[in-house]
Amino acid sequence: MSGTAIDIDLYSDTLTMPSRAMREFMCNVPVGDEQKGEDPTVNALQERIAAMLGKPAALFMPSATMANQIAMKCHTQPGDEIVADAMSHTLHYEVGGPAFHSGVMVRALSGPRGCFTAEDVAAVLRPADSQYLPQSRLVWVENTHNLAGGTVWRLPDLEGVSAFARAHDLALHLDGARIFNASAASGVPVGVYGSLADTVTVCFSKGLGCPGGAVLAGPSALIGRARRYKQLFGGAMRQGAGILAGAAVYALDHHLDRLGEDHANARRLAAGLASVPGVAVDTDPVETNMVYFRVPDVDGFHAACLQRGLRFSKQVGNRLRAVTHLDVDADMIERAIGIVREAVA
Ligand SMILES: *Cc1c(COP(=O)(O)O)cnc(C)c1O
Repeated sequence: MSGTAIDIDLYSDTLTMPSRAMREFMCNVPVGDEQKGEDPTVNALQERIAAMLGKPAALFMPSATMANQIAMKCHTQPGDEIVADAMSHTLHYEVGGPAFHSGVMVRALSGPRGCFTAEDVAAVLRPADSQYLPQSRLVWVENTHNLAGGTVWRLPDLEGVSAFARAHDLALHLDGARIFNASAASGVPVGVYGSLADTVTVCFSKGLGCPGGAVLAGPSALIGRARRYKQLFGGAMRQGAGILAGAAVYALDHHLDRLGEDHANARRLAAGLASVPGVAVDTDPVETNMVYFRVPDVDGFHAACLQRGLRFSKQVGNRLRAVTHLDVDADMIERAIGIVREAVA
């Protein structure tokens, strides 16, 4: 990037920097030894997220990747089969974790918008009584769905998959790294999403703008086992972990209500991009804070954008992705559209 400053960074919603107010709040929270369960801020955060999601218990972790992997480990035995969308985060960005940590087989579904139906799960369900077949054990749902374009599961589809899973003794995990974006867009309370899943991952380093951290919520006995796996995986933290949990507490108080602004900015960006000749917007409609699009010469275009201080994420298949977040305002979106117009020309 030859030293050019990026001043409009649409690479990801992980690019937000903790604000001064967030940092000051983090300085002042009470802390203790998280590993021993003695950090009051971590404990308060866990209780708050559990209550929001309607779950008995929750566990703070360094990352949503760890929360997902530990959830999978809790639900399965090696050789079991999980059903997940082919484009899900856990199959693409978690370094083969399903195979490495849990030794599971994957049945990948390819529904529209990264979502599937109870019928799709029924079509790949393994009979429970076979001497030969792997055992279907876990259904994996991502909401919002990142690679599908920040898409939101339709409630009837999720209800159908949930009812099917319960009727067939399958666990259901919701990778809700961006569950608050889903809720802001759909108006469905996160507790309703939570009630349809056995376990839920929530990530604080995305739209909520924290430096890191995630929570896994679920039944008490399962969360007890998750605590042992967190120790095993080296994820247990020590004194002062509440400083990081404090960022999440601050974000729940100050950053939840504004997620709709990110969605409005993403819609405006998509409309602006679509008006530039040569740009094809894939994400239609824009449901949350992501816009995927294509240009004829991806590398040349992106270099021209970087030179002008604008960054996107280059994706497989020559797609580009823009993600809006709390460090991007409406004025920056208008400037970004202007830069795209120049860069294409
Ligand atoms: C980012 C993300 C994760 C992982 O979050 P980290 O905290 O960065 O490990 C998991 N699932 C989805 C859908 C994500 O977008």
